[in-house]
Amino acid sequence: MGKFKETVLEIDLTALAHNYKYLRSKINSETKLLAVVKAFGYGSESVAVAKELENLGVNYFAVAYVAEGVVLRDAGIRTPILVLHPQPVNFPTLIERCLEPSIYSFRILKEFIAVAETKKQQDYPVHLKFNTGLNRLGFLENDVPSILSALKKTSALKTKSLFSHLVASEDPSEKEFTHTQIERFKNISAAIALELGYKPMLHQSNTSGVLNYPEAHFTMVRTGIGLFGFGNSTKENAHLKPVATLKSVISQIHHIQPGETVGYNRAYTATKLERTATLPIGHADGISRAFGNGKGWVTIAGKKAPIVGNVCMDMLMVNVTEIDCKEGDEVIIFDQNTTAEDLSEAIHSISYEMLTAISQRVKRVIRRN
Ligand SMILES: *Cc1c(COP(=O)(O)O)cnc(C)c1O
Repeated sequence: MGKFKETVLEIDLTALAHNYKYLRSKINSETKLLAVVKAFGYGSESVAVAKELENLGVNYFAVAYVAEGVVLRDAGIRTPILVLHPQPVNFPTLIERCLEPSIYSFRILKEFIAVAETKKQQDYPVHLKFNTGLNRLGFLENDVPSILSALKKTSALKTKSLFSHLVASEDPSEKEFTHTQIERFKNISAAIALELGYKPMLHQSNTSGVLNYPEAHFTMVRTGIGLFGFGNSTKENAHLKPVATLKSVISQIHHIQPGETVGYNRAYTATKLERTATLPIGHADGISRAFGNGKGWVTIAGKKAPIVGNVCMDMLMVNVTEIDCKEGDEVIIFDQNTTAEDLSEAIHSISYEMLTAISQRVKRVIRRN
């Protein structure tokens, strides 16, 4: 029986440590491991997760935005933090908090040099991002001469790493394209290293790159979803442990007469005498309306209870006609048995979206197994 009696997201640091060690076992001992803890640590709790990983000896962190890095610094995290997608408006804060920017365009390069020089920086660590096929962020190979000449004109910046991002590292049918990306990245890094006169770190792999492309590990790998227990394949999922468990509780039980309807817009009509349970979790907590009308389900007393009617903002109703349960009983939304990935597939989504959707209204509880 759950001891919290409300909706909680449990974060299991033992599972996190297990996943960290598994991913470490996939890379050489000299290869550095960067933990991606953006979006509240993939919807978990970025500070608790980062502290645990720092104790385990992680080499680097990455977040998407400056504000996420500030939260880690405020919590006392000392490990270097790469900011993957910083905006110029936040460059002064980024420097004050010793965060390291991804430099992904000439506009960003120019603006960052200006702020770093104003703040009298010397050799401020930056990471140059190259677009090798994702067409999302990054310089192109042709930009290399102009980047080098801009860097030569200032002593405010030092290129700590060169990096790129794989488009489809989880997809075996895209092996050829992935190899094209790896080759492009090698060419770019060789051209830059030659001119810089020192060797910046190189990194291109996300979790599926770690698992599927040892030839793309370079000096560091960046892993996010793997740390949180998902490997983007049945085979790899078996080695990993989901870190987050989403639980709730039965608030009220209703007996629905045949012909009566349940929820907004009368989306569900009972065909016989049925029993529903109302749960204190809704679309404002991250359970998308797409799960309504039987697409999604929860687990009560080990049995599947499908969602009935539309998901409300703060609540949802499930069918418990065949389940022996009562008000106050524990409800599992996702855990290590019904995973966030299983649930996400029911609405054609992915584990990443399911995990990061769990809103900040849901209480986080940190536990060790
Ligand atoms: C989010 C992100 C990652 C982590 O990817 P996973 O698939 O979660 O391991 C790595 N690199 C970049 C640039 C990212 O944006």
